Amino acid sequence: MAERHLLIGNWKMNLGPTQAREFASTLAHRIPALTRTDVWVCPPTISLSAVCDELRRSSISVGAQNVHWAKSGAYTGETSPDFLKDIGITFSLLGHSERRTYFGETSETVAMRTESALAEGITAVVCIGETEQERMAGATQKVLQEQLEPVFKRIEATTALRLVLAYEPVWAIGTGKVASLEDIAATHQFIRGLWTNRGYQCQPTILYGGSVNPQNFREILGIKEVDGALVGGASIKLDQWLDLIAIAEATGI
Ligand code: PEP
Repeated sequence: MAERHLLIGNWKMNLGPTQAREFASTLAHRIPALTRTDVWVCPPTISLSAVCDELRRSSISVGAQNVHWAKSGAYTGETSPDFLKDIGITFSLLGHSERRTYFGETSETVAMRTESALAEGITAVVCIGETEQERMAGATQKVLQEQLEPVFKRIEATTALRLVLAYEPVWAIGTGKVASLEDIAATHQFIRGLWTNRGYQCQPTILYGGSVNPQNFREILGIKEVDGALVGGASIKLDQWLDLIAIAEATGI
């Protein structure tokens, strides 16, 4: 289990540069000193520079929502890991279910992007999760394994240290539905098992994501297999986001 909690806010396609800068500025002023929590935020690509500028002197890290596998070239609409590093980006989400569902991202392209991010020194937060249909069919573990296998194939033991996994049941994202505490614990254990079978020596950081809010977070973070959360909606509601940070700070590791 990780030594600190990790809380990542995925702003999705919300907060353009002006609004993102304002939000980041207020967040930087209101965030408490952190003793056991790392707070990371992922603005949309066009807002990254503004947010990096605003949070440069804060404890908050800024990350991208995706990264391409090539350093440059004919890939219209994509972002090179080099360009992200140029503006101070230290991590990126990869394989978010919205990328997989709406933009044809496959586990293989997620693995290619992950390999490239890690090779360039960008921490990769790889998102995995089953759909409701897959869950009903009893295929959750099979799906998670299939999503992770191509990633594991490309990751060396040395770079695995900078890999974070986010278990996000697709049916729980933005729906208000949350997996049961038992299911979250069992699934995180299963993911840890896949990691250990791969022979990596380090312990993975594994986050839960899917409709996390200040009402349910304390219990979720109380599960010993859960190292933190990937949060969408509640991460752009300032009071809720600060409440989540306060809960993480108040919860023992
Ligand atoms: C997400 O975007 O990864 C997410 C978990 O969203 P929400 O918290 O809104 O369900």
